[in-house]
Amino acid sequence: MSTESRKIRLIMDLRNGGVTDTRVLAAIERVPREAFVEESFLDQAYANQALPINCGQTISQPLVVGLMTQALDINDRHKVLEVGTGSGYQTAILSKLARRVYTVERHRDLLTEAERRFKALNLHNITTMVGDGYKGWGAQAPFDRILVTAAARIVPPDLVAQLSDEGGIMVLPVGDVAGLHQEVIRVQKDGKQFKSNRLFPVRFVPLVQGVPPEIQK
Ligand code: SAH
Repeated sequence: MSTESRKIRLIMDLRNGGVTDTRVLAAIERVPREAFVEESFLDQAYANQALPINCGQTISQPLVVGLMTQALDINDRHKVLEVGTGSGYQTAILSKLARRVYTVERHRDLLTEAERRFKALNLHNITTMVGDGYKGWGAQAPFDRILVTAAARIVPPDLVAQLSDEGGIMVLPVGDVAGLHQEVIRVQKDGKQFKSNRLFPVRFVPLVQGVPPEIQK
């Protein structure tokens, strides 16, 4: 089967799975997932599944990327923070929808690879940082939207603080680190108040606090 027909089939799977926002589907269509997977998994680039990447991490399942992006309700005026760059695939999708994307990753090697991909794909509205995304990116706050792609036990307080008071929305997986009981949560801020609701069950790698030893100064 050609890449194009695999891609069409994937888009159909996403529609059937509940991704109905045409802007999100168009963004997914425009980002070549094969540029973000490891060479040995190239034949599975358009399968609707998570795949292993370096540093023991994973590139998220396309359906989960679609549903989480849709729940964020992003437009081209939004400044977005992503925690957990990984392969950079979700970052690339966000970059097609937002004004600017700030993305934080704790593994330098993953970030370097992701930066190379952004450049090759001419994605110029992405700013990257190696660091602990559990603390967010205070210097760039507030953010209109925040997306976390690794699971925390609780909603990280610094991220709530860095979310815009004017209708800011954050989407993140919350639950145990073993990945057995995790759910995607949508947090919506209105002034200093916020409300959250549960969206769907998922299985993400854990949001690890701190950065690996080689990165500490
Ligand atoms: N969105 C990515 C998903 C990568 S998996 C993709 O589609 O490829 C989650 C990523 O979060 C991993 O790369 C992991 O290293 C990173 N991560 C985990 N804890 C983190 C933290 N505290 N700060 C920043 N990144 C973190």
